[in-house]
Amino acid sequence: MVKVNSNYLKLQAGYLFPEIARRVNSFKQASPNADLIRLGIGDVTEPLPPACREAMKAAIDEMGTTEGFRGYGPEQGYIWLREAIAKEEFQKRGCEVDPDEIFISDGSKCDSSNILDILDIENRIAVTDPVYPVYVDSNVMSGRTGPAGDLGRYGGLLYLPIGAENSFQATIPDQKVDLIYLCFPNNPTGAVANKEQLQNWVNYAKRNEALILFDAAYEAFIQDKALPHSIYEIEGARDCAIEFRSFSKNAGFTGIRCAYTVIPKDLVGQSVDGKVDLWSLWNRRQSTKFNGVSYVVQRGAEAAYSSEGKAQISTLVNFYMENASIIRRDLSAAGLTVYGGEHAPYVWIKTPKDFDSWDFFDYLLKNANVVGTPGSGFGAAGEGYFRLSAFNSRENVVKAMNRISSL
Ligand SMILES: *Cc1c(COP(=O)(O)O)cnc(C)c1O
Repeated sequence: MVKVNSNYLKLQAGYLFPEIARRVNSFKQASPNADLIRLGIGDVTEPLPPACREAMKAAIDEMGTTEGFRGYGPEQGYIWLREAIAKEEFQKRGCEVDPDEIFISDGSKCDSSNILDILDIENRIAVTDPVYPVYVDSNVMSGRTGPAGDLGRYGGLLYLPIGAENSFQATIPDQKVDLIYLCFPNNPTGAVANKEQLQNWVNYAKRNEALILFDAAYEAFIQDKALPHSIYEIEGARDCAIEFRSFSKNAGFTGIRCAYTVIPKDLVGQSVDGKVDLWSLWNRRQSTKFNGVSYVVQRGAEAAYSSEGKAQISTLVNFYMENASIIRRDLSAAGLTVYGGEHAPYVWIKTPKDFDSWDFFDYLLKNANVVGTPGSGFGAAGEGYFRLSAFNSRENVVKAMNRISSL
């Protein structure tokens, strides 16, 4: 009989979003007329920027002509998109990133898990707790952990707790790890790191010859000009960090699908035969296992850098950030303690009184018909917290806040 990858059986059965769906469905059956407002899953809600839409329409028409037709594109992405990204996202911020170091993909979720393909299974790995579940689960699936223990924490991973007590900044480990996942602005806590904090991580990584996997999916939501958008704004990061970026949250591409990963050519790792550069391994991996993002979508992503595209994206981001500030303001006025939501589309709430995360979920669902995400679903140290997302219409956000305020 065919043998399965038994690592999958280590995954926690009650995975967060299916469990939320189960509770919401049973509530809907009991109260079919309830007007539910979903501030749970981190998915955008507002229409695509017109500049991106027009570029995709033009691209599809081009494909309908003999001269404009294109088949397989480069596995790494079209050079015009990589050049636009290098210039607009990195070089304009003083970061030394070459178009050649940018790999276009269909998502950061996939990239942040696929990257494990080129890394040895014996690496010692650190994640924050709470954390974006993809980092942990992809390590579990690829056999890099032991089974889950009592707190749902997997053996073999080093968990770095983040909470109000450390301002949601993980303490730099006092032991050596090989691989560190960092996400700023953070999902789920909405926290952001300044240059000094990132410099400490880069220094740690260089000292320990570790690799940082830096997820900057929410960089567009940063409001303070002094805060870094990219790990490459930090001195020395080219020697120790890979960065993941996505068009999902800024340009509303969650359904269109386009992202990219930056692998500096300076990055090296240890192989059984000596040092090798990670760029070559990832290039080989992508060329073998990936056939590129569609031409149409890449034209849509390129339009994000036109002057109209930039203005429209900035309007979108501002819209969500106003939602976040309404959530912060109204929940604070209602006596709740709130974090995040200033440089990220997530507000991280301390659950009131004796509520644990799931109690508070059930309470809001039943009494305000508002769906959020229990902090404990992102890790044991998320217990006692609750995440609300700013991704919704203004009307729904205002209505949800009015309902919560009157409880
Ligand atoms: C939404 C999100 C992404 C983006 O994922 P895509 O696959 O590009 O849509 C990446 N990282 C985090 C932490 C996210 O929340």
